[in-house]
Amino acid sequence: MKDFIEIDGSQGEGGGQVLRTSLTLSAVTGRAVRIEKIRAGREKPGLKRQHLTCVKAVAEICGAKASDVEVGSSELEFVPGAIKGGEYRFDVGTAGSVTLVAQTVLPVLIKADAPSSVTITGGTHVPFAPIWEFFAETYLPELRRLGVRVEAELDTCGFYPAAGGVVKLRVWPLADGATPSRYELTDLGAYRGGKVVGVVSGIPDSIAEAEVGIVGTQLRELGLERETRRVASFGPGNYCYAQLDYERVSVVFSSVGTYSKSRKAVGHEVVTAVRDFVKSGKACEKHLADQLLVPLEMIVGGHPEYNPGFEWQSNWSLDMQKKTKHYTTNSDIIGKFR
Ligand code: AMP
Repeated sequence: MKDFIEIDGSQGEGGGQVLRTSLTLSAVTGRAVRIEKIRAGREKPGLKRQHLTCVKAVAEICGAKASDVEVGSSELEFVPGAIKGGEYRFDVGTAGSVTLVAQTVLPVLIKADAPSSVTITGGTHVPFAPIWEFFAETYLPELRRLGVRVEAELDTCGFYPAAGGVVKLRVWPLADGATPSRYELTDLGAYRGGKVVGVVSGIPDSIAEAEVGIVGTQLRELGLERETRRVASFGPGNYCYAQLDYERVSVVFSSVGTYSKSRKAVGHEVVTAVRDFVKSGKACEKHLADQLLVPLEMIVGGHPEYNPGFEWQSNWSLDMQKKTKHYTTNSDIIGKFR
């Protein structure tokens, strides 16, 4: 009988992150996991395509024995095996987020026996997930600081509902001596400038122009360069983001347009996200904080005594914009694998 780590998928945030973190840490620690009440905190509980893709992807990479799951499943048993580098292709099949799949497999692949190439198909710019630019410009540079060697490329944008977005990653096993013993994101350093970018596919340029106009004007004090772009994709789509480049870190703030969201609302969402961050005077953007926890745990480690909900920051330090529920939930799940 395998000893399973028991995870309650309804705890805390009760979303997909509980599952994704459990999968990643099961693979890297070699410990079997049983998850119940998957995504019980969400409107449509159970596995969606993105989560199912994560289960299949991690299972393939580490030769795991996983229970038979499908869309809607709310329980999973996962018994990991050896992590293998190689060439992988994962297709979400809907506009489920490719960056969330990437964040699930990447920490596993740095523990592989060989380099990997990964192609992931799905949604590249979808709500409630990091857009590609956040992943490439905000998240990956921090992983590289932690000694991770990774290259990433956006091949095709994928929007809801048509999807078909493609991203490609190259990941190398973590090299001996490449990792720092401490990690800090406590000081932004000087503001170096920034930009606001509006992107459309299959809809008028005027939408991107309006969004960029709103953000550029309302955040005039930041002197953002303005850019609009038209991209090819399988269906219509729109997103807008502001990127602020500080000496220490670049931060991307985004909003994804949907059928029911006006260009004005998209622009204002970006403005609000930027203002909240700048006003906080903190160095670590709130989404980045929860996303860094797994790599930090794996690479620099934390406090030897873990208490749920307690700050453990002996080897790393984040000056956080906000301690979100995603952050506290993720740290609680990580604690189960110690
Ligand atoms: P879950 O809701 O549990 O599937 O987790 C969603 C993940 O997406 C979390 O890691 C969030 O930090 C991340 N996320 C959601 N919205 C954004 C955003 N606007 N920018 C960057 N990351 C985001």
